[in-house]
Amino acid sequence: MQLSDNPNTTNPESLNSFNYQELLDQEIKGFDTRKPPKQEIIDSCVHCGFCLSTCPSYRVIGKEMDSPRGRIYLMNAIKTGQASLDETTSQHFDTCLGCLACVSTCPSGVKYDQLIDATRSQVERNQPRSLGDKLIRWLIFNLFPYPVRLKILLPLFWIYQKIGLQKLVRATGILKLISPRLAAMESILPEIDLSSINKNYPDIIPPQGEKRYRVGVILGCVQRLFFSPVNEATVRVLTANGCEVVIPKTQGCCAALPAHQGQEEQAKALARQMIDSFADTDVDYIIINAAGCGHTLKIYDHILEDDLEYREKAQKFSAKVRDVQEFLAEIELTANLSPISNNDLLTIVYQDACHLLHGQKISLQPRQLLKQIPGVTLKEPIDAVLCCGSAGVYNMLEPEVADELGQQKVQNLYNTGAQLIASANPGCSLQIKKHLSIQEKETPLYHPMELLDYSIRGIKIDG
Ligand code: SF4
Ligand code: SF4
Repeated sequence: MQLSDNPNTTNPESLNSFNYQELLDQEIKGFDTRKPPKQEIIDSCVHCGFCLSTCPSYRVIGKEMDSPRGRIYLMNAIKTGQASLDETTSQHFDTCLGCLACVSTCPSGVKYDQLIDATRSQVERNQPRSLGDKLIRWLIFNLFPYPVRLKILLPLFWIYQKIGLQKLVRATGILKLISPRLAAMESILPEIDLSSINKNYPDIIPPQGEKRYRVGVILGCVQRLFFSPVNEATVRVLTANGCEVVIPKTQGCCAALPAHQGQEEQAKALARQMIDSFADTDVDYIIINAAGCGHTLKIYDHILEDDLEYREKAQKFSAKVRDVQEFLAEIELTANLSPISNNDLLTIVYQDACHLLHGQKISLQPRQLLKQIPGVTLKEPIDAVLCCGSAGVYNMLEPEVADELGQQKVQNLYNTGAQLIASANPGCSLQIKKHLSIQEKETPLYHPMELLDYSIRGIKIDG
């Protein structure tokens, strides 16, 4: 089965007939009746191919079926009984990063995000995985969305790093021989700071000066344990700008990881828990500093649309969610800012996280905030809209494609000549740090909230 890889020359007719004839000989297994991808959305694709140029999986794999247009053909073929939902077709859905670049690019407004969400749930329900695949997915979905479980493992990771086992494992490449996916998981493990285990925030943190807003803050799961300085900086920036901050202790995972991978029931359960934890907080807004989480929190109304008890609560919750940069740009900074470098000028390259740029259409606000720091000049990388390969847990499940994208992203960021990188998503930060290290580049990486916090507190990043 060979399809044309040129977006400008692919002929949909030949694509259909060639592909389908082969598949007709096989036993056909379609989608089940529980929310298959909607036919009207599939039909809204006019097969123009504009989306192919910004699709990272197509960029790396180079096959039509690993592009948005190819996947939409495939969904249609499965829906109409001309292709089977099997290991081969599922693989093409698995290679999608869910980065939503195609949604931004599509001139016809095709809601590919809804199509791939529905398709992933179908794959998870109906397509058996290999034992190795099952194990790695079980590990991911039973570990990362649960901060309590992660906390238990943190000391083990710390010992693993401190006694030099990590260096040995990486130098020998032994984990890659056992499981490339496990090796990919290990390769993004950041330096463990045990103090994050006992980090306890007060339930309510008062604003500095006159109160402007009462906001809830979501701590995240990976963010909470691997990037706790980012959460601390976020709280300080909010309070310094007149916000009373509420942090419910019962909050857990936002559901982004399971939601992006079609784990429908787990995502629903986590979303309900999050809604309950903010139920009596009476906050004006709910603030999140991680791009992927923010996108999911904003679509709780969609995730829980069939839940009669939670549907309305989810709508109200989602309406209050704001990315922290979106929020601060909207309310405008009132805290005084000072330079964060001893040099007169500081060049920063801001890395757009897909779930901010494409998922939430937030690109100007982070740049506006960073440019307010005295002495800061922003640089723009080429291919800024292209995913870094992190994509939630994609870099653990599809490490080869992810590595290619990570390598390209770091090269492009580095080539701007910027002195530091700003990134507003923990997954992107881990992926970029990994590839900076592989390429032996020492450009530091910060969350924009850390930089604003330094600026408010008069701290210099260069000592
Ligand atoms: S998804 Fe949009 S951009 Fe891509 S082929 Fe279809 S209509 Fe064209
Ligand atoms: S979500 Fe990203 S990887 Fe998936 S089809 Fe769209 S552009 Fe390609």
